[in-house]
Amino acid sequence: MTGRQIIAYIGIGSNLGDAAGNVRQALLALEQLPASHVTGQSSLFRTAPVDADGDDYINAVARVATDLSAEELLPALLTLEQNFGRERSYLNAPRTLDLDLLLYGDQVIASPTLTVPHPRMTSRAFVLIPLLQIDPFIHIPGQGAAHQFVPGVADQAIQKFA
Ligand code: ADP
Ligand code: MG
Repeated sequence: MTGRQIIAYIGIGSNLGDAAGNVRQALLALEQLPASHVTGQSSLFRTAPVDADGDDYINAVARVATDLSAEELLPALLTLEQNFGRERSYLNAPRTLDLDLLLYGDQVIASPTLTVPHPRMTSRAFVLIPLLQIDPFIHIPGQGAAHQFVPGVADQAIQKFA
């Protein structure tokens, strides 16, 4: 662990199979990423699908200290999704595991394959609530305190699961 590690936040979601088990396994898998350590994790939350089909989701957020660049971290996350058997059958199809890079330090990234902060994180209760449980005063680069977006998602069902 060096002093130069970047703090990244990763959104985790599953609504296929043993969703809670998938999320717990994903948290363990994140700890196995190269040059990375999980330094915080939210509770698991049950949420209704947003613009998507299928059963309720189980969601969580992890805080990871990493030496990986954002451009290294994203493919590592997508590989993990594949390892959990995710099939991209259609847009917003039910998914065994969804991993989103929410924040990467204070960086703002807009490349063809990677957008950070994650563009939909401020409009999703299933991201904001677990994120704020870990770090209530966290700022989103360019957008200010994350908690200011909570009233805007107050109509989205979310329950603490475990
Ligand atoms: P979402 O999770 O936003 O509902 P998908 O998981 O289906 O949608 O889309 C993931 C795709 O979006 C990935 O293939 C990836 O290249 C791209 N992407 C861009 N920025 C990010 C990010 N910050 N986190 C995760 N995926 C991202
Ligand atoms: Mg995703």
